[in-house]
Amino acid sequence: MKKTFLLGLLLAFGVAENSNAQSSEVFNKKGYKLTFENQDATFSKELKDKLVETFYQVYPKLAKEYNKKTSRNVTFVIDTAYDGVAATSNDRVVFSTKYMKSHPKDIDVVTHEVMHIVQAYGESNGPGWLTEGIADYARFKFGVDNAGAKWALPAFKTTQSYENSYRVTARFLVWIEKNIKPNLVKDLDKQLRDHTFTDNSWKNETGKTLDELWTAYAANPTI
Ligand SMILES: [Zn+2]
Repeated sequence: MKKTFLLGLLLAFGVAENSNAQSSEVFNKKGYKLTFENQDATFSKELKDKLVETFYQVYPKLAKEYNKKTSRNVTFVIDTAYDGVAATSNDRVVFSTKYMKSHPKDIDVVTHEVMHIVQAYGESNGPGWLTEGIADYARFKFGVDNAGAKWALPAFKTTQSYENSYRVTARFLVWIEKNIKPNLVKDLDKQLRDHTFTDNSWKNETGKTLDELWTAYAANPTI
């Protein structure tokens, strides 16, 4: 009795799972495997192709620049239930169907998200705003069509802080590299992955503390 009941449960669960997955495709190129799971039968082939193409354009470059040991096995999920824009964990990127359909030109969501796979910080001792700032920095530097998405680094404002994360932090990182320390992001990224990053990393890298860097940035924020 008990066994039959369990089996029934498993079968029901299996059926429910399968009804979500409209299709699953596997791509193998440039040494990287990309599994594309699509839950939305009405998701256009054009947009799917663009997501896959963008992955193969940017991921090998990000791997070469930041982390040659990054995962070679990535999954993209077109998720009909997800309400955000996109999210990444365990080498798996979930894209919101709703968002991607209404913002088909925002293709460098791929670049930001797969940078999180390359980052592989695990239980990092670094701040979350820096992780997100580095992902948007990577989008700024390696994005395939930021202009087409009307995506740009926002102008500096005195109300900003480096803790604003994302594009605000990304612009600050670009400024530091231009004015004080080229390759800062590569160094910080490696330290975050190696779990050697500390608050002193800023001073060790640039000669200035984080707050001193921000003050210098605010005084002359041109990039
Ligand atoms: Zn992110």
